[in-house]
Amino acid sequence: MTFFTGEQYRKSLKELSPEIYVRGEQVKDVATHPLLRQTINHIASGYDLCLETEMKNRAVVCSPISGEDIPRLAFHIQQEKEDLFIKAELTREISSQRICTGCGSNMLSVTWAMIHDIDAAHGTDYSSRYKHFIIKLHKTGCPPFAWCMMDPKGDRSLPPSQQRHPADVKIVGRKPGGIVVNGAKLHTTLGPGAHHVVVVPCRALTEADRDFAVSFALPVDTKGIKMIARPSPGPSREVSMESPLSSRFLGVEALTIFDDVFVPEENIFMCGEWEQAVNLSFYFASLHRQSKCACSAGHCDLFVGAAALAADVNGLGMNIAHIRDKITEMIMDGETGYGCALGASANAQQHPSGVWLPDPLIVNSGLKTIRSTIGKHLEHLHDIAGGLVATMPTEEDWGNPGLKKYIDRSLRGSEKYTTEERLRALYLVQDLAASRTTGTLLGFTINAAGSPATNQVVVRRLYDLEKRITYAKQIASILK
Ligand SMILES: Cc1cc2nc3c(=O)[nH]c(=O)nc-3n(C[C@H](O)[C@H](O)[C@H](O)COP(=O)(O)OP(=O)(O)OC[C@H]3O[C@@H](n4cnc5c(N)ncnc54)[C@H](O)[C@@H]3O)c2cc1C
Repeated sequence: MTFFTGEQYRKSLKELSPEIYVRGEQVKDVATHPLLRQTINHIASGYDLCLETEMKNRAVVCSPISGEDIPRLAFHIQQEKEDLFIKAELTREISSQRICTGCGSNMLSVTWAMIHDIDAAHGTDYSSRYKHFIIKLHKTGCPPFAWCMMDPKGDRSLPPSQQRHPADVKIVGRKPGGIVVNGAKLHTTLGPGAHHVVVVPCRALTEADRDFAVSFALPVDTKGIKMIARPSPGPSREVSMESPLSSRFLGVEALTIFDDVFVPEENIFMCGEWEQAVNLSFYFASLHRQSKCACSAGHCDLFVGAAALAADVNGLGMNIAHIRDKITEMIMDGETGYGCALGASANAQQHPSGVWLPDPLIVNSGLKTIRSTIGKHLEHLHDIAGGLVATMPTEEDWGNPGLKKYIDRSLRGSEKYTTEERLRALYLVQDLAASRTTGTLLGFTINAAGSPATNQVVVRRLYDLEKRITYAKQIASILK
């Protein structure tokens, strides 16, 4: 079977009955709920994007594991160095048009590598089960899965086993044929639109945390799984001018609860092997952050396009010195992030499982750098587009014939554009820089893929500082 089209994906949701809540109420139909529709559209259009002629060659790959043609960014286990370069290019391109690619391939790949380590250390055979799960995904249309890694963590200064009120996902029972788990995972991107959840540990664990070392996959409508979703950041009402990006795309995140959920043996990929939990974080810090560098570069491209268009509809443009300088700076930030995604790929190392892991020093340095530019870019967008992005009339005002003539006359800009075209350009800037989407974008840039401090932790751990001190001593003729 080839993978879903967008329409087949939408229809497939009717066959599931997940327990999802939004604004305190249980969702009856995920596919049509007004507070979730952008997410469903985001996922559906991701499938359709793979079929576009220009994209197909790069976005679809034949999986050596299943022999199926699959969407590369969502389902591929990255076992060729070339995969890293193609992924970076696609990620930048897609993120510059719709913020998020989903990145499921990274999650499946780092889990593949961690499971390989567990089997090598403990003589287990989780790899066969995991491979079976991947092949099943590939052969049943590539239904979307949600990545449940981040635990609530409670008091951050304590490991899970020492929490007074532990909330992280934990094994609470062992039964014939499986285990019972309880706890929660946070921030589950695209969760309400998924068919499955894939659960992995989120940090280094000790022997006392053994029961928190658990990984498994389950259908999203398994008894005991509940999702409390944040509404899509875009508008819930129908719009035709405002929020041109967030009314169509963007994910929701969910708080995913596991209320004494039974996990059958064949779905378990880790069960108490606490020593390998840290490996997953480490691989994630390399492979996913490489994507994140390219993704943030795509966001720079999006901001650049919106800023340059805003300058143009205002009757100015790249020939105005301060606008040119600001936009050039934004372009250079994007190129720096993308350069790190590519450079880290050139220096990648192959894990014994076959997965290629980009250079963690380069990706973490690149990501720390590029994510810190978003505040400046939002500032530039406001500066270049002007105060209207914060104060402009709504599209309903524009739609009122009695008001339209005043708005038309008052808000005209460059003669090259109609007032409506100027409004449309400024609504895009508003969507990016002065809306609920702005807050989501900030969170997405700063925290998704791990906080900026974790970039520094990786760099400090891996950088050969002693060597540099030795060189410094040699140059300074210090002989000890
Ligand atoms: C939009 C978005 C989408 C996301 N999607 C997903 C997803 O699909 N799946 C998923 O699993 N996760 C997802 N995440 C989670 C993301 O990985 C986390 O938000 C991120 O790792 C930070 O963790 P936290 O939110 O618990 O913050 P915290 O870890 O609490 O961080 C807050 C601050 O405390 C610091 N800190 C925390 N612990 C310590 C410590 N022990 N010592 C010193 N400093 C510490 C951090 O560095 C940071 O500065 C998403 C997040 C966002 C914002």
